[in-house]
Amino acid sequence: TAACGALVDYVELTQKGQLPNLQPPRRQEAGFAMGIDAATRRNLELTRSLSGGREGSLLSIIDQTQTGAGARLLADRLAAPLTSPEAINGRLDGVQYFVQGPQARETLRKIFKATPDIERSLSRLSLGRGGPRDLAAVRDGLKAATQLRIAINGDGLAPPPKSIDTCLRDMGEHTTLVDRLQRALMPDLPVLARDGGFVAPGYRPELDELRQLRDENRRLIRDLQRQYCASTGITSLKIRHNNVLGYFVEVTPTHADKLSAGAPKESGVDFIHRQTLASAVRYDTAELRELEGRISTAAEKALALELGLFEDLVVEVMERRVAISLAASALARIDVAVALAGLAATQGYVRPVIDGSAAFSITGGRHPAVEAALAKAQAHPFVANDCDLGEEQHLWLVTGPNMAGKSTFLRQNALIAILAQMGSFVPADAAHIGVVDRLFSRVGAADDLARGRSTFMVEMVETAAILNQAGPRSLVILDEIGRGTATFDGLSIAWATVEHLHEVNRSRTLFATHYHEITMLSAKLARLRNHTMRVKEWKGEVVFLHEVVPGAADRSYGIQVAKLAGLPASVIARAATVLETLEKGEQANAAARLAEDLPLFSASVEPRPMASEKVSAVETALADIRPDDLSPREALDALYRLKVLLDDDDGKQ
Ligand code: ATP
Repeated sequence: TAACGALVDYVELTQKGQLPNLQPPRRQEAGFAMGIDAATRRNLELTRSLSGGREGSLLSIIDQTQTGAGARLLADRLAAPLTSPEAINGRLDGVQYFVQGPQARETLRKIFKATPDIERSLSRLSLGRGGPRDLAAVRDGLKAATQLRIAINGDGLAPPPKSIDTCLRDMGEHTTLVDRLQRALMPDLPVLARDGGFVAPGYRPELDELRQLRDENRRLIRDLQRQYCASTGITSLKIRHNNVLGYFVEVTPTHADKLSAGAPKESGVDFIHRQTLASAVRYDTAELRELEGRISTAAEKALALELGLFEDLVVEVMERRVAISLAASALARIDVAVALAGLAATQGYVRPVIDGSAAFSITGGRHPAVEAALAKAQAHPFVANDCDLGEEQHLWLVTGPNMAGKSTFLRQNALIAILAQMGSFVPADAAHIGVVDRLFSRVGAADDLARGRSTFMVEMVETAAILNQAGPRSLVILDEIGRGTATFDGLSIAWATVEHLHEVNRSRTLFATHYHEITMLSAKLARLRNHTMRVKEWKGEVVFLHEVVPGAADRSYGIQVAKLAGLPASVIARAATVLETLEKGEQANAAARLAEDLPLFSASVEPRPMASEKVSAVETALADIRPDDLSPREALDALYRLKVLLDDDDGKQ
């Protein structure tokens, strides 16, 4: 209540006391949405890529919505996947309904393309910042809702599921308002109501009369010009209008004499001089003033009437704003369902089975962004992989070479869980997911120097959060933890983390590591399974097959990957030697021996000169001095002597 009060207070303060279109607050139970912390959101690039833009994010790949409201709703859903199987399945029913009706999908997509953003217009109108175009947006949006209902009911589709039926009901009945707005507004509308000219003829007879009067008087002015031309004999005489003088008679300076005060009044009209310019002389007349008065009175009255009508229409819309908002939200929900159905149909996504079990079984899963990037680059096809984190094997330890696709595999499973629980089909051949209450990830390394955290510290803070909070319903993905510190420290931390996740957290976990030693834990931990990425060695090169298979990797092929990346040949050759020595198992001594044997540098770097073995004269003299036997005077002399000896020694060197 306090938070809501603060919010309303803030709105009142910043909106100068005008209350915008606020909906009554709705209570959301704790845990209604999957818990995803900020680091995980960022790392999984849900709505923004790591570089900050929308491009490359999951949202940019799945967004096929046609309306602004639909796009906003999709982003909201992606940010808060649900945890209730019933609610998720309700959304999935809606998507499936449109997956099965490609024809209806196409029709609806066309309707949505022309549907304006009702919600935005409504909030502008409620803040007193709206214009005639906002009224038209409300009208056209509500019209689209009617068209949509007809299309869904009449397209030979099966009866809609509950979630879509609710949307159809929420769209409500707005015929009277739509008709009124249709009759009231001109086809082409100005942005602002201020200058009028937006109420259609025929809507209010009184307005038509005023406009007619205004136009009639304008016609009379044209007649007056003709009359003045004839009576003065000046054919070039014009009646013009500007904002400073209003209406005036204008002649060229050559004809000015004929109209001046002293000239004979053949025309019988008094031309009162107003202004002389280099190219024109301007006059006023009593008739012109009177006509002008009538025109402006009619125009002012017409404008006032129009503004009054605008206010009436705004009030009428505002009175129905809850129903209109509901219709707008229903339109957005259907837009999202149609868009997700389009995505599923074009990208080969399937409906996931969602329930309250502890299952996490994905067959032929794919990473939507990597798959899209590979397709765009026309590179090799994406290799689909299975993942089964059932109760009997809830912790998968994934080892394998660098670049083999471990991170991709980990992330794709997290993304599949998010997509499924937001109510979307998923990039897989089949998926069965027992709802995930919280998703944790420790992937990618980034330091947070601004907040005083080193890369390793960030990694440990995130790992601590996981170990302290994850439970059996959580999904955890951990990518190479412990790599930011000394090898044995890192290995020990990773090792203990795996044990803790297995024994204490019992979360469904994917753990990728290059510490192959940890795979030995499979003998000790019953629910841990080793998996590895398949590679082939071919003529000394590694070929990545991107396939996840049971088993443990024995090597990381780091040197081969480094070679692919373009490290100098000398570095690669030396690294291979070092690796060989280290792998021979003499690890304790190996490092020391390797340090002595530095062939890479021996050719280019001269050894440092060692300190001289000879004892200097200063040292000999110093050794002879017995401080206890010296008087202050002798001590000072000895000091001077030593200084001289030191200077001599430096001179010799
Ligand atoms: P490292 O251990 O070096 O972090 P990694 O094993 O985590 O590497 P990824 O970063 O997941 O490797 O994958 C590297 C690249 O391999 C990806 O950018 C992608 O182009 C390709 N790749 C990954 N998985 C697949 C797949 N299943 N099918 C096709 N290509 C893939």
